[in-house]
Amino acid sequence: MSGSAAEQAPTNGFTTRALSGVHPLRCPHCAAVVLAVTADGAGVPDGRPWLDDVDTISSLWQLLTHEQTTPDGWLPTLMVGRCGGCRERYYAFFANLICADFADVDDYLFGNIDVGKDSYSLCELVAPQDGLPPAWLLKENQTPQGVLLEHIFGPFTLSDTRGVIGAHGVSSCGGAKAEPWQQAARVLASLWDAMRILNRERNGAVGTAAPVAT
Ligand SMILES: [Zn+2]
Repeated sequence: MSGSAAEQAPTNGFTTRALSGVHPLRCPHCAAVVLAVTADGAGVPDGRPWLDDVDTISSLWQLLTHEQTTPDGWLPTLMVGRCGGCRERYYAFFANLICADFADVDDYLFGNIDVGKDSYSLCELVAPQDGLPPAWLLKENQTPQGVLLEHIFGPFTLSDTRGVIGAHGVSSCGGAKAEPWQQAARVLASLWDAMRILNRERNGAVGTAAPVAT
């Protein structure tokens, strides 16, 4: 271990920086703004939700080691929406993380409980990596159980809804073989360790969550 540059945490693979001004998320089809994000909030231009249906990314479990899934206070989801301008569909995927046991924080992860003031920043890869988006949004909330981080990727074009939207809405049933599920699982698995490190750093608990060798 070099032990150098701990402050910059280059091993994270990505950096975070505060948003300045408005950061628009745009429809991948027509470039209309579907979500306008600032450092302390997000708004939808036409007053309708930018995403409207969701399922968990079950295929991520198979890509993570046992150590990576512990503690299990995390929830990966994929959501689908439709542009209010061109009416085309898109999807986005999310990783919600708290360094705690799922049973203690499920209400926070599912958004069933008021998590107070939102704070947004931008994550950026330190260097380009195949298959990974160069930048994505990060939402942060302070909860009694620790810092809740939500990494937000997309929106991406959803031209083929087969395997993504079923008879009962968005569903990863059937093995999550469609590319959006596969892409989401790959991206989240690639960034997993770095996202967990960031979560611990934001908790001010660097090192305390790591197993102690005996
Ligand atoms: Zn559009």
